[in-house]
Amino acid sequence: MQQSKVVQLPLSPLKSKVLVTQPYVPSLDKYMHYVEKAFDAKWLTNDGPLLKELTDRLKDYLGVKYLLLVSNGTAALQLAYKIKNLTNKTVISTPFTFPATTTALEWQNANIQLSDINKNSWNLDPKVVEKHLTTTKVDAIVPVNIFGMPCDMEAFDKIGSKHNIPIIYDSAQSMLSKFKGKSVLQYGDIHCMSFHATKLFHTVEGGAITFNSKDDYERAKRLINFGIGENGVVEEAGINAKMSELHAAMGLCILDDLPMLIENREKSLTRYHSQLAGAVTLQCSNYDSYTPPMYMPIKFETEDALLNTREQLGHKGYLSRRYFYPKNHKFLNESVRSVLPVSDVISNKILCLPLMHNLSKNHVTNISTIIKQNV
Ligand SMILES: *Cc1c(COP(=O)(O)O)cnc(C)c1O
Repeated sequence: MQQSKVVQLPLSPLKSKVLVTQPYVPSLDKYMHYVEKAFDAKWLTNDGPLLKELTDRLKDYLGVKYLLLVSNGTAALQLAYKIKNLTNKTVISTPFTFPATTTALEWQNANIQLSDINKNSWNLDPKVVEKHLTTTKVDAIVPVNIFGMPCDMEAFDKIGSKHNIPIIYDSAQSMLSKFKGKSVLQYGDIHCMSFHATKLFHTVEGGAITFNSKDDYERAKRLINFGIGENGVVEEAGINAKMSELHAAMGLCILDDLPMLIENREKSLTRYHSQLAGAVTLQCSNYDSYTPPMYMPIKFETEDALLNTREQLGHKGYLSRRYFYPKNHKFLNESVRSVLPVSDVISNKILCLPLMHNLSKNHVTNISTIIKQNV
């Protein structure tokens, strides 16, 4: 179907606040076009035609062979951890991520080890991970491409094959990212994606898992449907993590509009970057990579500067959000909450600025001006 028209945000943020982001909604007509199909067929969930259509279109779009749509990104992580049998196993991950990366590991009763991040990319640093590997037996690594920026994926692939351990990516924010010219989905063993309403591509609630291994894919397909195999026999204890037809319908609408969403957000990002250059630190990659316009994070010199700026932005009706703060460490046991010099210094200085498809030029300029006045 055709792409939808863009309606710009009103220019008086004091009357209606500008949020840090807002879910993109396609036109109701467009959504109804797909929903009607589900209503006509009276097929609302369980591997229905809209789910199949979305699966095929995403496989094509992303260039992957084994893709499974699921109920949300956290379920995707839980399934990946289950598939790789991480119960009571030692797993290295990053402290600088959305809580679900590690809470899902905790639910799987894995033994979580946090490793430090790189100061430029804010992603898990393979060199630090290798140091852990010289002293500890590790069973899996869970890197996150945070804010969509790829970590050093080649290095993690090498570590994975050298130590014969799976690399499971929390790619909730990096479905569209590229590392050295290739989709990030071409690296590692498993990628878990979130299609939550606040993500660039969404299905209201939803997610996907991509696999290298056909066996892993087939096992996951059973697991999301209670563990029921093709012949109707429950082969192992699964769970319900299926995506419904109404969620898939939203995904089909948004996939039509994705090029427009990306283009518009790219424009805002480019403006932010040129206006804020020199005033704050931006996340940057050490490699040739592409980061989709998912978030607009900036790093301040001090936490005080961050707090002041956030307040000034708030007075003018601009909401910003601290990611990922406070560090999601509280539920982890004491030994895991060890000192991590880089992430300890970085994680309390990062603020995400408003970014959405219909943010006008003037909003970006206003926000950038307020920041420059406060640093
Ligand atoms: C959004 C997100 C998740 C959780 O996904 P849900 O679909 O909300 O369950 C996990 N990890 C990261 C890095 C995320 O950004």
